[in-house]
Amino acid sequence: MRSHDSTKRILVTGGAGFLGSHLIERLLGQGHEVVCADNLFTGTKRNIAHLLGNPHFEFLRHDVTFPLYIEVDEIWNLACPASPVHYSHDPVQTTKTSVHGAINLLGLAKRLDCRIFQASTSEVYGDPSVHPQREEYWGNVNPIGPRSCYDEGKRCAETLFFDYHRQHGLDIKVARIFNTYGPRMHPNDGRVVSNFIVQALRGENITIYGEGQQTRSFCYVDDLIEGFIRLMATDKDFTGPVNLGNPAEMTIRELAEAVIALTNSGSKLVFKPLPQDDPMQRQPDITLAKSKLGGWEPQVKLEDGLRRTIAYFDGLLSA
Ligand code: NAD
Ligand code: UDP
Ligand code: UDP
Repeated sequence: MRSHDSTKRILVTGGAGFLGSHLIERLLGQGHEVVCADNLFTGTKRNIAHLLGNPHFEFLRHDVTFPLYIEVDEIWNLACPASPVHYSHDPVQTTKTSVHGAINLLGLAKRLDCRIFQASTSEVYGDPSVHPQREEYWGNVNPIGPRSCYDEGKRCAETLFFDYHRQHGLDIKVARIFNTYGPRMHPNDGRVVSNFIVQALRGENITIYGEGQQTRSFCYVDDLIEGFIRLMATDKDFTGPVNLGNPAEMTIRELAEAVIALTNSGSKLVFKPLPQDDPMQRQPDITLAKSKLGGWEPQVKLEDGLRRTIAYFDGLLSA
């Protein structure tokens, strides 16, 4: 293994996805070599097309539910479909990706004795009865519902990370990511920010599920990636889990109105049924992140982040 002070060879699973592609750009920018392993289920080569000519970048079409034998100095595990539309398309494969994927990558990290990051999620809190959510809260998750393949898969992956840490002394970093948005979100993934922007740009109705009074807290991708980098640089004794997200909470209706205003769209709001097990409120408590990650907190205001995301989708839809 190479020294942690010099440039590293880094594996990013799920690197052709939204967050992974931004992370890879940051790592290459720091002078590291990056191997991206992705089965392109929800990710696309378009997200990494601009990196393919970079001699420090390598793409591997690989499904993390299968073992992977390579030599790297550090692992970031982001592979997993992240939106309800995608993760419920093949729920068994979603659980396998989280659970078998974690086992294989932890096995790889154990053999290589290298640091490993897990992209966990605020969904481990389920429909929370504690608000805002702190890391100590154990969650309120339905084990047999339509979201369970994602929520319970991610919870089991956390269990595996902590058992490999306790049993084999693995150097782990677990981030619980809250709703994040930005360029390279999938236009058809059904997530609220991409849905509303695409609908507004096309002049279609904006689909609000329920009455739009449920809340979320949206973090711009650059702020999240800064949190990732700081977390991965912490001392070995800090494992997380740590919440990463933006505490600025708003209702879904307010988000719809903000998107309409920023796109100057004539779109109208329409109300559709609320999906089963859809959490009513979600806001990260980021006290732990602030104290452990050198005062980290999101910097990008929703309006600025939405403008950059709208510009991306505008380019994509008119291409
Ligand atoms: P994404 O769908 O854009 O990226 C996920 C990537 O994983 C895709 O490129 C996909 O092709 C790949 N993938 C899926 N199954 C795989 C498999 N079996 N083997 C190899 N690759 C596979 O989603 P994202 O928003 O970039 O999410 C990245 C990670 O962050 C996920 O683990 C997700 O659960 C987590 N996360 C994201 C958010 C968010 O708001 N974006 C919130 C919480 C957690
Ligand atoms: N594994 C892998 N690459 C490696 C080492 C292990 O993909 O370099 C996988 C392998 O499939 C194994 C799993 O990780 O089953 C867990 O590894 P571990 O050493 O914990 O368990 P064991 O090999 O004893 O089952
Ligand atoms: N949502 C909505 N209209 C849409 C897509 C989503 O009202 O077109 C709602 C959804 O019901 C949820 C919130 O927006 O209450 C966030 O949904 P998303 O799928 O983006 O994230 P998650 O539910 O995983 O937080």
